[in-house]
Amino acid sequence: MSVPTHSVIDTRRPQMFPTLELTEIERLRRFGEVRSYGAGEALAKVGAVGHGLAIILAGHVDITQHDQWGRRTPIVTHGPGSFMGELAQLAGRPALVDAYAQGPVEALIIPPERLRALLVAEAELGERIMRALILRRVGLLETGAGGPVIVGHAGNGDVLRLAGFLSRNGHPHQSLDADTDPEAKALIERFHIDAGQLPIVLCAGGQLLRNPGEAELARCIGLVGPIDPNRVYDVAVVGAGPAGLATAVYAASEGLSVLVLDCRAFGGQAGASARIENYLGFPTGITGMALMARAYNQAQKFGVEMAIPDEVIGLQRPDDPDHGRFVLTLSNDERVSARSVVVASGARYRRIDVESLDAFEASSVHYWASPLEGKLCAGQEVALVGGGNSAGQAVVYLASRVAKVWLLVRGPDLASSMSRYLVDRIAGLSNVEVVTRVQVSGLEGGDGMLQAIRWRRAASAEEVRQHRLAIRVRRRAGRQEFRVDRRRRRCRSSTVGDQSPGRFCRRRRAVEFGQAGRGGGRRGRAARADAACLFGRGRRSLAPRRRSRRRASSAGRWRRCAR
Ligand SMILES: Cc1cc2nc3c(=O)[nH]c(=O)nc-3n(C[C@H](O)[C@H](O)[C@H](O)COP(=O)(O)OP(=O)(O)OC[C@H]3O[C@@H](n4cnc5c(N)ncnc54)[C@H](O)[C@@H]3O)c2cc1C
Repeated sequence: MSVPTHSVIDTRRPQMFPTLELTEIERLRRFGEVRSYGAGEALAKVGAVGHGLAIILAGHVDITQHDQWGRRTPIVTHGPGSFMGELAQLAGRPALVDAYAQGPVEALIIPPERLRALLVAEAELGERIMRALILRRVGLLETGAGGPVIVGHAGNGDVLRLAGFLSRNGHPHQSLDADTDPEAKALIERFHIDAGQLPIVLCAGGQLLRNPGEAELARCIGLVGPIDPNRVYDVAVVGAGPAGLATAVYAASEGLSVLVLDCRAFGGQAGASARIENYLGFPTGITGMALMARAYNQAQKFGVEMAIPDEVIGLQRPDDPDHGRFVLTLSNDERVSARSVVVASGARYRRIDVESLDAFEASSVHYWASPLEGKLCAGQEVALVGGGNSAGQAVVYLASRVAKVWLLVRGPDLASSMSRYLVDRIAGLSNVEVVTRVQVSGLEGGDGMLQAIRWRRAASAEEVRQHRLAIRVRRRAGRQEFRVDRRRRRCRSSTVGDQSPGRFCRRRRAVEFGQAGRGGGRRGRAARADAACLFGRGRRSLAPRRRSRRRASSAGRWRRCAR
């Protein structure tokens, strides 16, 4: 996880806020029209869809952000030659900042569809503008400015779900801990929120949502809107993973109208990868999110429309195969018509077959090892289940953040299911212990908090012998005792090393990544749902000072996509 020590505004200001030459502005005039604004007039308002990119010809425009109490913070002032906008203007989404004319202002307004045309037609200028738009989004991600505010208990499953959704979609947001943050407490009081209604989300437009679903939240912040039922797309792509986004970029760059639908976020499985090292052209590796954010922005540059999150639940063939159209049905009853459909829906995660898994999912059991999970289990011990490449990446990623990683693998060794470079890297990590030929057989804990994991030899018919366990799992008698456990970092155990039936009673931080199919080699592994991740979740709250770091990690991944 990279946490920028300096804000992108400090380190990349010239690229973030370039000033265009007069000759360059002249070249861009054909893409927009000149408009005048009076002193104090708004060029953009948070939560409202603006007119597009504004190149300032005369006068000055103040860009500010405001918080849930209406307090304004200046971000930058644009003068003649500079332009106003960020990624929201590329897609025609609601603005994340306010923009007010200081005095009389004249600006060249370029609407979103013309902005996309500009980026394609004016390669060099387009590159500078696109980089600035991305970096400005990075700046907003660093501060959470303009995005919704999540108020809930730190580490709560729904808080994580909502924060994860926004992070994965590159949307700025802030999380306030209802237990420790005075502002969170004030908001709860102000809106008369009962404890059972948490988490709440305050959208930039002022709406209050009580523990919303992702679709509800996305609609509130303007991430997704209604689909035109009368429009017939040339191509509808189901899935915004690497396959779907590649399809979209190539189709749109050929001039086809493209709609991409994804039920979760762009990036698919690849978006969860801590570091992709086998992708051509990235010798030092790249995080999955940075790679996928590039693809996502590239697709939008070519005019691809995104419908995220929207789930496709049905596909109707055309009556006339030569001239008809396919109809996709969405879970919200909307319909999409298209002349062709590409289904790039990837793989579905296989869940381990243990009792009470449901009770820990979202709160203690996770299927990713992103910076969000990395922070949740920082300094603790983690069980990671699975022997595929995604598990290997998670081990490497987590090892530098947690006290210890226990890698529980069904097979006889890692080499049969994991790429060599990962096997070698894991071998060099002193705080990773690989336990082979075992299967998880039980989870223990309460209130969604994982306290222990049991396993047994994969080939053994014997069930877990709990009575033989050398590990004595402490019954959790409150937070204090748990803290003591964490400091000690070990339960007394002698069974792990010899791979006897065992019981993992390390911290509630247990991570599991599934192994590729039973005994499966590498072939076809990517198509299998082989990554599951079990994290134990602690109730350790992230102190307020950590909030900015939490946002920054998501910003860091976007920052890399602007290079
Ligand atoms: C943690 C991790 C690390 C990895 N690291 C690497 C690596 O280093 N190198 C490598 O080569 N591979 C890696 N992989 C594998 C790689 O990410 C996958 O092979 C790749 O993402 C598959 O791409 P895809 O587009 O086919 O499917 P996916 O990435 O699975 O994307 C499918 C998308 O379709 C969406 N979807 C599914 N059903 C619907 C529906 N009904 N309606 C709407 N949307 C739907 C999903 O939400 C998803 O976003 C990794 C995988 C994981 C999980």
